[in-house]
Amino acid sequence: MKTIFTKTFSFFLISIFLYSCMGEREARDPLLGREASLYGIGQFANQLLSADRFSRLEIEVLYMEGYRPTNQMINGMQEFLETLTHKPEGIQIRDREIPSQGQETYTIDDVRDLEREHRTLFNEGNTVTIFVIVLDGNFSKDDEETFAIGAAYQNTSMVLFGPRIHMNSGGFRRPSRALLETTVSLHELGHLLGLVNNGTDMVHDHEDEEQEKHCDNQECLMFWQVETSGLFGFLGNTIPQLDENCLKDLRANGGR
Ligand SMILES: [Zn+2]
Ligand SMILES: [Zn+2]
Repeated sequence: MKTIFTKTFSFFLISIFLYSCMGEREARDPLLGREASLYGIGQFANQLLSADRFSRLEIEVLYMEGYRPTNQMINGMQEFLETLTHKPEGIQIRDREIPSQGQETYTIDDVRDLEREHRTLFNEGNTVTIFVIVLDGNFSKDDEETFAIGAAYQNTSMVLFGPRIHMNSGGFRRPSRALLETTVSLHELGHLLGLVNNGTDMVHDHEDEEQEKHCDNQECLMFWQVETSGLFGFLGNTIPQLDENCLKDLRANGGR
């Protein structure tokens, strides 16, 4: 009885809260605040690429205990975005540890819940924000053979699966952890920038016919296997670059 009462009561409170948010919504800029972080992948490509609306970019990187990203990954993201976007007032990355959830696997809904709980940076004034979370578990849809290393899941949100990265790096014929996590994080940033044909229009047709939203060039950072188990078949000692087609698309959508 007590539980039911508590539940009803908190539901009531939540309803009041939602109602008051909705009341304010009309007056708000749809590009600012928490609500602006809930659009689909690629929907903020132009805002991230150009300086028209946002001249500054801040990235919040959260990681669970034991999965702090390498400095190479942080610097790699910074450099990648500095090269591709117009942010005259700068790009800043902040990282912070969050408590371990101890889950072996996570669904995308779990990741969304964690973002709701822990994300503190939202678009404000002339600053656009990106959220990156490194989990202590793997993706729920993985199987032994094929698995995800990372994913972009909203307009300014992406996730990396920490154990996958650790398991598959640093050993005989394995890429270093820095190389692997940097490669995958840049691929996911590419999706946030609207690649391929998903928020940023193509100048020349180069979307993979079988793997939507990916580049048809096997050498390109946006080739589909870059975020999956397939990556190990071809990742050498360097991070794959964006090819000319992908670069052209970004430039045409306000990028550098
Ligand atoms: Zn991808
Ligand atoms: Zn490409």
